[in-house]
Amino acid sequence: STALDGALGLIREVPDFPEPGVLFRDISPVLADPAAFRVLVDAMAAGLPAGTDAVVAIEARGFILGAAIAYASGLGLVCVRKPGKLPAVRHRVSYALEYGTATLELPEDTIRAGQRVAIVDDVLATGGTVAATRELVEHAGGIVTGVSVILELAFLKGRDRVPGVDVTALVTT
Ligand code: IMP
Repeated sequence: STALDGALGLIREVPDFPEPGVLFRDISPVLADPAAFRVLVDAMAAGLPAGTDAVVAIEARGFILGAAIAYASGLGLVCVRKPGKLPAVRHRVSYALEYGTATLELPEDTIRAGQRVAIVDDVLATGGTVAATRELVEHAGGIVTGVSVILELAFLKGRDRVPGVDVTALVTT
């Protein structure tokens, strides 16, 4: 839609962040615009795969989107966090970044065996983050129904890191 295109047009491109040669996509202006934020959340909520019964959001921008999408959809929210934040950790996964490693943790008593969850984040880049989140969900016995992001950087082939999972992006570049 025109409204959705307008909202996506507010994504700002920042050269050389967080390091030289990287073109960072900054969604801050979209969140700050009331009409754009609403149309974006509504589009992501409408696109959740049928049968999804919880939203899993990734720290930190995924929390903002995931919370709004879960609320709009009448679903619960599970927040996958960076290390050291959670008092009770169900499972922990570390994964390789271009330089170094990252770790994500799933809180205790959030995902039930057999529960069908959609993973939400702002940007899909190399796919390492969503692949690690899928591993957390599946370790707890959950089933990933899909991955939903605002923006997919297709040249990084992130969706290849989550084979068998439906990846939905509002815009692909
Ligand atoms: P990946 O693991 O390489 O797919 O990186 C995805 C993670 O890094 C997500 O949690 C994103 O929020 C973040 N990320 C990577 N590139 C960008 C970007 O250009 N803009 C905003 N976030 C990004």
